[in-house]
Amino acid sequence: MTQNSITTDNTLTDRFGRRIEYLRISVTDRCDLRCVYCMSEDMKFVPRAQLLTLEEVIRIGRVFTELGVSKIRITGGEPLTRRNIMEVFNQLGSLDALKDFTLTTNGTQLSKYADDLRHAGVDRINISLDTLQEERFSRITRTGKLQRTMDGIDAALAAGFKRIKLNSVILRHRNHDEIIDLVNFAHDRGMDISFIEEMPLGVIGDHDRAEAYISSDEILDILRQQHDLIPTTDTTGGPSRYYRRTDSAARVGFISPHSHNFCEDCNRVRLTAEGRLLLCLGQEHSVDLRRVVRTYPGEDEPLREAIIAAMDIKPRGHDFDLNSQPVILRHMNSTGG
Ligand code: SAM
Ligand code: SF4
Repeated sequence: MTQNSITTDNTLTDRFGRRIEYLRISVTDRCDLRCVYCMSEDMKFVPRAQLLTLEEVIRIGRVFTELGVSKIRITGGEPLTRRNIMEVFNQLGSLDALKDFTLTTNGTQLSKYADDLRHAGVDRINISLDTLQEERFSRITRTGKLQRTMDGIDAALAAGFKRIKLNSVILRHRNHDEIIDLVNFAHDRGMDISFIEEMPLGVIGDHDRAEAYISSDEILDILRQQHDLIPTTDTTGGPSRYYRRTDSAARVGFISPHSHNFCEDCNRVRLTAEGRLLLCLGQEHSVDLRRVVRTYPGEDEPLREAIIAAMDIKPRGHDFDLNSQPVILRHMNSTGG
């Protein structure tokens, strides 16, 4: 352990002086969809015995909050497909130190879970939606039905979350003609929306990532044909840069790993479903926390030490290149997007 890993006020800090306050937990790498930018058609998933148990996930999450992490996002794969997942939401949601508890989901299970999630203390949720057209939805997700996600969105709106945001990955010639429709759909229902530039994580068979790439600036130009958008300094503690409409409070966010690298302000780390603590989305630096929790089942101190020591190998940033073969072979579903 080095001195810059934890400060005297008990917060995690890396060697570049960045405070780590945000943990994203992937609770499963499995999913009921197969989005073309996220997975290949024949995915091999982690054997269930290698996954962290729900108790282990809760324990690691709690220890992170004791080290100053105040924001946790549950993600996956599709987190709501993991059996008994409400255990994790109920337990972590009751931690006083957790100030911001969020979820990223494809929405297919929200009709079942939205109310329970709200009661468990989840304040905000992100729902992924790339198209409003039924046939396209089936093509982009390979297996999905648009209506299920739409029903999930309605259930989330009725459950009264503080904020719901849609996430859209825009691919040229697949859904780029729906940018304005997606914004109008979100804003008409009081939701924000963020556009994410596709990242080269894992080999996918469906399309050429460089060809399909559309920059956030191009999306912004398209949107400005319809709406007046002004930049804001709003932040939700993640990588989105927000613009606000002049005629309403609704926002459009951009997550731009290629065109506006966000590494300088990185405040987050990721826990994979198998218990690997990933220090960067676009690099392989990691620490095996599953080994630590299984070696020391009743003791938190070794886990605390492993987390603190991990801060020293957090790299400066990613260097994504869409024109070469992916350097990172893990797909987004195992990374925990
Ligand atoms: N299944 C949930 C969902 O789709 O919201 C949570 C996990 S998913 C991996 C989280 C987010 O990552 C989604 O918004 C998805 O669109 C995005 N995503 C997946 N693969 C991506 C990629 N290669 N580049 C950029 N975003 C990606
Ligand atoms: Fe599943 Fe989410 Fe990946 Fe789509 S983006 S395949 S919904 S994990």
